[in-house]
Amino acid sequence: MGTGIELARRLGAVVRGSKHFVPGFAAVEHPEEPGRYYLFTDTTPQSRLPWEIYVATDGRRFMAEDLPSVDDREHALMQRPDLTFWAIYDQRIADEALWFFANGIVARLSKDQVAAAFAKRHPSFVQAATIDELAERTALPVPVLRQTITTYNQAVATGRDALGRQHLPRAIERAPFYAVKHGGLSAVSFAGLAVDESLRVIREDGKPIPSIYAAGEILGFALLNGGSYCSGMGITPALTFGRLLGQRILHWRTGQDAAGRQSATA
Ligand SMILES: Cc1cc2nc3c(=O)[nH]c(=O)nc-3n(C[C@H](O)[C@H](O)[C@H](O)COP(=O)(O)OP(=O)(O)OC[C@H]3O[C@@H](n4cnc5c(N)ncnc54)[C@H](O)[C@@H]3O)c2cc1C
Repeated sequence: MGTGIELARRLGAVVRGSKHFVPGFAAVEHPEEPGRYYLFTDTTPQSRLPWEIYVATDGRRFMAEDLPSVDDREHALMQRPDLTFWAIYDQRIADEALWFFANGIVARLSKDQVAAAFAKRHPSFVQAATIDELAERTALPVPVLRQTITTYNQAVATGRDALGRQHLPRAIERAPFYAVKHGGLSAVSFAGLAVDESLRVIREDGKPIPSIYAAGEILGFALLNGGSYCSGMGITPALTFGRLLGQRILHWRTGQDAAGRQSATA
């Protein structure tokens, strides 16, 4: 939650790495828990090829939805100023595609939950009888969205998509039409405390703050990952630097405090 970073900043600690932020791809607001976002939809082409199109707030597609690299998908989303997009599909896709609301790793919404979200007009779940109504209710520009869907449907017909999408299973043409709002998510912090080679938290002038050490995610993901997510590179450095602190850096003295209790200091 960043509390450790805030505490250290009060002592003059420097925070580095915030320029490297990359959003996770991509979360949907829980239809029954306002303000909570989950990885509900399967946007990973290796587990489910996309049948939907992803439309940014300007009404245009911004990436080939079947981009195989998650890094490419995350960086495409990073280019969107508000880090959001609508996944848009129609009734035939709803009927024929693999269930969209089942992220194999994290979470699943049942058909009843999704139907209720559309019926109750949840802000992230929009259903409409026409493309124009869908555009109005999602605040997407009507003529642009109409053109985006026409162009995509032509790509499905010809097998050639200007953005390079390969998987073009169905046109978007049979009412009702659906749009589900997605946003980039942040599960880890790219920014973190600057430390020296002994993991001592340092100030802007490079001098260590006495007795303050840091290891793990509080150092920020950017330190070892730059602007990307590398598999295992959250847990592994946390364990490694923690072990280095315990085994080599901190030298513990044990003794009794003034009240006669056993204590340990580094
Ligand atoms: C959803 C999710 C998925 C992830 N997936 C991966 C992955 O696949 N691979 C990977 O390598 N990394 C992954 N990470 C990142 C990885 O889990 C973290 O970077 C790593 O766990 C950080 O370890 P840590 O010990 O630094 O911090 P934490 O694991 O956050 O531990 C900090 C601990 O301090 C405790 N604490 C906080 N305040 C106090 C206090 N005042 N007093 C006492 N205790 C306190 C907390 O309860 C917590 O137990 C993921 C993270 C998330 C959130």
